[in-house]
Amino acid sequence: MNYRHIYHAGNFADVFKHLLLVMAIDYYKQKDKPICVLDTHGGIGLYDLTSEQAGKTNEYPEGIGRLWNDADAPAFVKPYLDIVEGLNEQGELKSYPGSPWVVQQLLRANDRHIVSELHIEDAEALKANLEGQQTSRLEVLAPFDGYEVLKAKMPPNEKRGLVLIDPPFESVNEFDDIVAAIQQGIKRWAAGSFAVWFPLKDDAKVADFYGQLSELEGLPKTLAIELMVKEPDPSAGLYGCGYVWVNPPYGIQQQLPDVMNYLQRVLAQDESAHSRTFWLVEE
Ligand code: SAM
Repeated sequence: MNYRHIYHAGNFADVFKHLLLVMAIDYYKQKDKPICVLDTHGGIGLYDLTSEQAGKTNEYPEGIGRLWNDADAPAFVKPYLDIVEGLNEQGELKSYPGSPWVVQQLLRANDRHIVSELHIEDAEALKANLEGQQTSRLEVLAPFDGYEVLKAKMPPNEKRGLVLIDPPFESVNEFDDIVAAIQQGIKRWAAGSFAVWFPLKDDAKVADFYGQLSELEGLPKTLAIELMVKEPDPSAGLYGCGYVWVNPPYGIQQQLPDVMNYLQRVLAQDESAHSRTFWLVEE
């Protein structure tokens, strides 16, 4: 396990991932009933953008740095930016929240939050970073394999909620593992919402992923959301990222055109930046 998220914290992919995560949770919170959020690949929860590791790749200026400096950010971005600003009260962007931190800021006392992380050092850092931050019923399972946690913890008692699957894609089998996890997940929790983040760099692998998912028996309505920030270049790695979203919250579907228009504009790295959204399994 070589992947450490500190090298990528706050980049365009995190902005895409966390903005939609905040919007989904806020949508669920429109009803009083408690929700459950499972974050299978939690990372460490809190990132120091002034660290040597973050400085080495320096990805955040083209991610959260763009929104931080956007005086005209639309209203739907505010709840996400408020969380980032809460960590940077002196007005200078130095810290960035990971998904477990983001979720903790949003959940209510009756909601449930389960986070897992496999990397031994990152597991310790995650526990330390979430210490004292508890707003909901929180369970940190670390070091634990997120795919095993998904099997063990689903279905939750709460009827509504979200599973975030955000792996590092270090393993050549990651897409296959995700398909297997979704198959298990929908069998156990058919009404659950499953958001799977994935990188756009190898189009053939993504096409195969979409194909495998579409063939899953009993897959509920499933949306694919893609953000391309620059021209694909096989030698340059990530050119975009996406979510495959099983049972996407209705509030997300409604706001997606505006959100994706904004993200493709504010995060563009060249003129070819664009986005697309389509159903893998129709409503
Ligand atoms: N979700 C985090 C966020 O948005 O802030 C970032 C997660 S990062 C992309 C992926 C994380 O998954 C890494 O911290 C890595 O150590 C961890 N990881 C890798 N394999 C795992 C597994 N099988 N189960 C749980 N965590 C795993």
